[in-house]
Amino acid sequence: MARIAKFRRRRAHSPGVFQTLLRRFRGREQSLVRAGEALPLFLFSFPKGAADAALEIESALSLTFQGLSAEVRAPYQDVLVRLPAIVVVVLHPANPCGCLGHHHPRGTESRAARRLEMELGSTVGEIDLAYDCIRGWNPQPLAGLAAPEGDEQFANLRFRIAVLAVLLHELEHLAFADRPEPEIRSRSNQFYTSAMSELVSETYGERYGMTSPPLP
Ligand SMILES: [Zn+2]
Ligand SMILES: [Zn+2]
Repeated sequence: MARIAKFRRRRAHSPGVFQTLLRRFRGREQSLVRAGEALPLFLFSFPKGAADAALEIESALSLTFQGLSAEVRAPYQDVLVRLPAIVVVVLHPANPCGCLGHHHPRGTESRAARRLEMELGSTVGEIDLAYDCIRGWNPQPLAGLAAPEGDEQFANLRFRIAVLAVLLHELEHLAFADRPEPEIRSRSNQFYTSAMSELVSETYGERYGMTSPPLP
């Protein structure tokens, strides 16, 4: 919260800074996402025509994440407090390497992110997310799940949790550059499972992964 207050003060002195930045991501659109006090300010950069995907990820952060119990969010407490006040999130439908997302270690950020950092005088982090790949990602066997195949509400819920899991995974890399991948991966997999469990049981009234197999 102190981080954000500091940023706001700074912004008051440079009102045009985002306008300047927005022109730097040529051929792309941007949105500023203020998803809650516990989260950094996100600057989404997405291809023209991908506003719907950007909006869905925004509501995953501002509604879905905020709506999860403190218990499910707790493992990321120490990550969130260590993040820079602003994180640029570069959205692509897919990555050529097939990854769901990356963090951009210090020194490898886009030029736009580096200039923003210079203009704001505070650290800016950067990650990327491949939203179509995340939509197709199926990290857990869904056998025994209460929701019927092809249920659109369920597919949306799963996308939102998956996108949060990937985003938090990459944010943890930003916050703790030296943490080993298996540790970070195990935390994001656990987050996916517990968030799915919580939301599916709220939405469908059944415990995720704990229903009986369908009768023949
Ligand atoms: Zn990759
Ligand atoms: Zn990783």
